[in-house]
Amino acid sequence: MIFFSDFDGTLTTNGELTRDFFEIIDYIHKHNHELVIVSGRSLSWGHFFLTHFPLKACIMEGGGVVLHRDERGEIVQEPLVPNVELERLTHFTGQLKHHFPHVPLSADSFGRLTDRAIEFHLMDEQWISDVMVYMEKEKINYSKSNVHINFWCGNISKYLGVKHFLHHYRPGLSQKDAWFFGDAPNDESMFELFHNSVGVSNIEHCLDRLKHKPRIILEGEENIGPKGVLNYVKGLC
Ligand SMILES: [Mg+2]
Repeated sequence: MIFFSDFDGTLTTNGELTRDFFEIIDYIHKHNHELVIVSGRSLSWGHFFLTHFPLKACIMEGGGVVLHRDERGEIVQEPLVPNVELERLTHFTGQLKHHFPHVPLSADSFGRLTDRAIEFHLMDEQWISDVMVYMEKEKINYSKSNVHINFWCGNISKYLGVKHFLHHYRPGLSQKDAWFFGDAPNDESMFELFHNSVGVSNIEHCLDRLKHKPRIILEGEENIGPKGVLNYVKGLC
């Protein structure tokens, strides 16, 4: 079995890594299954995950880039969008800063390859709306997670990243052997197209904004974030 999981709000609790996170890793490892983090966080975070936790692969930047260890144990990164889109993104980011000089790009935007991120909690509603309208006008894709507004060029989604990963890196596994856990609108492509999708109970804050909901929605305080992931995984294996 393979478990894909969002990171912020799904494997963390109020922004913190708790014992539950390490228990999930241990439990899955002990049962010879695999955990693959699928996050909107940057490529650099992916390097951190693979360096410091016993993980073989992760999918970062909302599905824009796959990181895995090759047969020699070296970390290899595979961007899933062509260079021309990466160049367009660099150009647009310059334009965005020109139109909105104080737009708070995330501190980790420098470590991003296939997208950029904005710290929307530092902006008021009108400012957020103006930026989104500008992106739509310029035909730039964006999504809002529980920490950032991420924007990118080209066809990127968590679902496309996971599909590519299963096809190219774990060809023996089908979607039936795979589960996904998430908590926010930037997980929606997985809720829409991936069969075994599970929302941890804190997803209730944004359920009414989701067009596509997870097939299974956990409830109760005992299923918030990583507690919900751990309980559900224990019920499966
Ligand atoms: Mg999340």
